Amino acid sequence: MPAPSPPARPESARTPAATPLAALADRCVQCGLCLPHCPTYRLDRNEAESPRGRIAYVRAVASGQLAASAAGDAHLDHCLGCRRCESACPAGVRYGELLVGARTEQARRRPLPARTRAALALLARPRLLGGLVRLQRLLGRWLPAGWQPVPPPAAPGIGPGPALPAAAETLAVFTGCIARPHEAGSRAALARLLASAGIATTEPAGQGCCGAAAAHAGDAAGARALAGANQTAFAGQARVLCLASGCQDTLARSLAGVTPVEDALLALERVADRLAFRPASHRVALHLPCTQRSVVRSDGALRRLLARVPGLDLVELPDTGCCGAAGLHQLAEPVRAAALRAPLIEALEASGARELLSANIGCRLHLAGGTTIRIRHPLDFLAEHLA
Ligand code: SF4
Ligand code: SF4
Repeated sequence: MPAPSPPARPESARTPAATPLAALADRCVQCGLCLPHCPTYRLDRNEAESPRGRIAYVRAVASGQLAASAAGDAHLDHCLGCRRCESACPAGVRYGELLVGARTEQARRRPLPARTRAALALLARPRLLGGLVRLQRLLGRWLPAGWQPVPPPAAPGIGPGPALPAAAETLAVFTGCIARPHEAGSRAALARLLASAGIATTEPAGQGCCGAAAAHAGDAAGARALAGANQTAFAGQARVLCLASGCQDTLARSLAGVTPVEDALLALERVADRLAFRPASHRVALHLPCTQRSVVRSDGALRRLLARVPGLDLVELPDTGCCGAAGLHQLAEPVRAAALRAPLIEALEASGARELLSANIGCRLHLAGGTTIRIRHPLDFLAEHLA
């Protein structure tokens, strides 16, 4: 049976699209099917905090029917960029693209908040960020709880992999910005897992932030500069693996025509038959970030990889919507971010799990601010359980 057609857009709302942004917004037929999937609509029960409300505002401003207002811009600010609306939309609205365009227009008419500018400046300088992270005691006074440095990963079993076959494929690994210091252990875990399957990894010099935070804040020039640096750093590489589901889409767009980008978990699953795991001894909770579910779609691969660990007692946390991290949202809107995080933390605490696995660094940093339960990348867990 053919899929039902989306409802037609009301006649009264049809006016010619005046700009590319208005044309993107014009694809919305106002059916409202995305509303139940939107975490901010679920939080506020307010049309203006829904995808449909935001799209209507963007279209009205872009086509000159409405003057931008502080109230309208605040609703746009609250959008998490989780793109759950996009995956639920039957009309094919490219919401992620629309949001970046709308935020770029917003940044032209109103300066970015000082805190956002400071965070973007730091994310664009991963070496400086790494140095600051090492000053743990000093940073403890500057950063929110979840952004403070996490302890280094459990070392047992995570080290250099076995000798590789001479003809082994070498894959480049994306190191990112905040992930550069925070995810060094997870990259070592990935290297060890892939080495066990006969694949070598390399971390090309000169790479930096993917630019997602800059693009979502409306800093298009900053995002372009970061994309350019990564294009240079990864030129000539056969493939790039990305550990953070929140960075993958932006990185892949930046490197289009340069080299393909693949999620590290998807790549690992393709060679999983070459790996053997030893049994797990404790209950583990699993969090699936919005970007992993809706954009990268590596949630199935991760479930299948974890199922290879004998006896693993895995509890998948309920899908309560976005955890509230959403890039810089956790810094810009800490109260809303904590409210979105609360049901997940409640479920985690009730699960009886001794640790939580999550494949996106932004989510891990934010969730860590709400619990004392250990949180790490699934790759850390898998490498630790290599036989
Ligand atoms: S991106 Fe997420 S928060 Fe923003 S409108 Fe879509 S579903 Fe809602
Ligand atoms: S974004 Fe898509 S699902 Fe949401 S109201 Fe518009 S057409 Fe419907």
